[in-house]
Amino acid sequence: MARQLPKFAVLQLSGCAGCEVSLLNSTEWLYNFELVYMPLVISASNVPSVDVLLVSGGVQTSEDLYKLLRAVNSAKEIVAVGTCAISGGITNLGNRDDVRQMFLSEAERFHLPRMLPKCHPIDDYVEVDRYLSGCPPTPELFMQLLVPDPDYVPKRNVCQECGRKKLKDMKPDHFFYSQRGSPDPDICLINQGYPCVGTSTRAGCNALCTKPGHPCVGCRGPSDAFIDKNAQDWFDSIGKVFEKMTDVPTEEIQAILRSPQLSLFLFQFADYDHVNKKPRPKEKIV
Ligand code: SF4
Ligand code: SF4
Repeated sequence: MARQLPKFAVLQLSGCAGCEVSLLNSTEWLYNFELVYMPLVISASNVPSVDVLLVSGGVQTSEDLYKLLRAVNSAKEIVAVGTCAISGGITNLGNRDDVRQMFLSEAERFHLPRMLPKCHPIDDYVEVDRYLSGCPPTPELFMQLLVPDPDYVPKRNVCQECGRKKLKDMKPDHFFYSQRGSPDPDICLINQGYPCVGTSTRAGCNALCTKPGHPCVGCRGPSDAFIDKNAQDWFDSIGKVFEKMTDVPTEEIQAILRSPQLSLFLFQFADYDHVNKKPRPKEKIV
């Protein structure tokens, strides 16, 4: 009988994800633990019950605090991982007057930045010449930015790069929030119950996620067809695609559109909204 492995989860609060990358660079633990939650690689709406909860990142936002307090209830052991979880990291240094005084001369203290109340895209403050979208942009996209291929013809959206077939007669009743098994490699992930937003998302990543079976979450931002729409219109359009291609109830579609899995990247579509924001012309976006 297979050995029951202890379960563990990684809760990522405000940090740089460096701790997670370091953990993923070591592999031995894979044979001793079952990883059940880690937003960088495995998402779920809640942290499941676990034997060990690793917490990386500091408590910078109300959401961090909420997630932390909720997650610790379902963990037997809680481990603070890395400088940000243990001391709040560099951003905490920026706000700690006692520590500033201990380590910095009076003149230096003025140069150590303080946190602004809100984070802003840079074009709130400066004129931007070009935008390289993605989270992160792929190496090929960096090349396209820096040494453009004159023959490159951008595709309309991720679907065009994906190559999976959309079927009219295969309609799921519900969406999966996380990966289950191995999706059929030739059929559109929406047909198979995954909330993929490739229809609305800017191409250029070569469908990095959808080809191996992970639904597109829209990290490249809106395709050109969506840039001129206001936030409500593109939100409705994505919902309509899900409604047309599935038998998933409307309430569930609305819930999945607002789920952590999608909202993490879909929120940025609103920053391209020509109606309420400073325009980001299509020609400037790589
Ligand atoms: S899996 Fe996603 S990207 Fe691929 S065809 Fe379907 S909707 Fe488009
Ligand atoms: S498939 Fe979607 S989520 Fe994945 S890299 Fe491309 S745009 Fe980003």
